[in-house]
Amino acid sequence: MKVPFLDLHSPYIELKSELDSAYQRVMESGWYILGKEVEAFETEFASYCDAKYCVGVSNGLEALHLILRAMEIGAGDEVIVPANTYIASWLAISQAGARVVPVEPDEKTYNINPLLIENAITSRTRAIIAVHLYGQPADMDAINEIATRHNLKVIEDAAQAHGARYKNRRVGSLGEAAGFSFYPAKNLGAIGDAGAVTTNKAELADKIRLLRNYGSRVKYDNEIQGYNNRLDELQAAFLRVKLSKLDEWNTRRLQVARQYLNTLSNNSDLTLPFTPKWAEPVWHLFVIRYPNRDELQQKLHQSGIATLIHYPIPPNLSKAYSRHKDLEEYPASFPLTESLSREILSLPISPHISEQEIDMITKVLISFI
Ligand SMILES: *Cc1c(COP(=O)(O)O)cnc(C)c1O
Repeated sequence: MKVPFLDLHSPYIELKSELDSAYQRVMESGWYILGKEVEAFETEFASYCDAKYCVGVSNGLEALHLILRAMEIGAGDEVIVPANTYIASWLAISQAGARVVPVEPDEKTYNINPLLIENAITSRTRAIIAVHLYGQPADMDAINEIATRHNLKVIEDAAQAHGARYKNRRVGSLGEAAGFSFYPAKNLGAIGDAGAVTTNKAELADKIRLLRNYGSRVKYDNEIQGYNNRLDELQAAFLRVKLSKLDEWNTRRLQVARQYLNTLSNNSDLTLPFTPKWAEPVWHLFVIRYPNRDELQQKLHQSGIATLIHYPIPPNLSKAYSRHKDLEEYPASFPLTESLSREILSLPISPHISEQEIDMITKVLISFI
């Protein structure tokens, strides 16, 4: 038996008739950018996130970038961001012209360590980007409390956490604004690139609507210098179909995670994911830690089990940032982030993986550790 890391064909088969009819509806409409489907999706996704507003955009990176632009965060400003995240969280800051200030994670949750945030704040700090890594919400009360005290904005990077809950509240409305990605492999995935911003602030939503569409509300009336970061009708129509399945598929991911957690148990070498009492993660990834990670990955590969590493090169060690001016004044090394990157391994998890497949993965894994 071979187990792929992720199977994107099964979700299509499960929803084939709905997705195909969404495709036909849009094709027949003759209207392909910013129309009824985008508006309907925005209403449905805002409601799903318990947020007042949703603005569909072109992808997750641009969702974060436009939030920073709308907040007028740029040159001379600093933004605090986890050291261990997908590089897009950093790139959004750099593209806005602001300085990246990375902070190390909590060793158990892998999310930004609130105890280390205060040390990284300077007179130039404007915002904190909290990433809900691997689908588990960051400790938002602690982060918001620090932000309030220092008059900072809090932005959620919710690209991996559609539907996750923090103290019974959905991510997407826990800060001033949230950026989502609908990259096909995410829990809510489009059939191509797509993203969204959610917020409870009318003014911010309005500004992002302008920014995503050349700075104009009315065609050829350009109020500000904007971008082309629109969500198209086809993707919005597909996302509406997928959104109707999101809770069911997230529940299935939870069952898979429980099967892993019940079958594998922490031993001195293997560290399983840790979930704080207040977190309801949506298990975008199931990440274990093992000192001899490369050898384990190789053995699993030889047994037909595909795994991935999220992420093998932390942004500070990437070619894009290792000599970047942003890291000069700060410690250029992030020991915990770097050691995590050498030990973490993502096991297959998805709504469509079978119990038998998980059973086989855990048996093979146990035989190697
Ligand atoms: C996927 C992802 C993004 C970027 O989303 P795109 O749609 O690929 O631009 C940003 N942040 C995190 C944490 C992600 O996982």
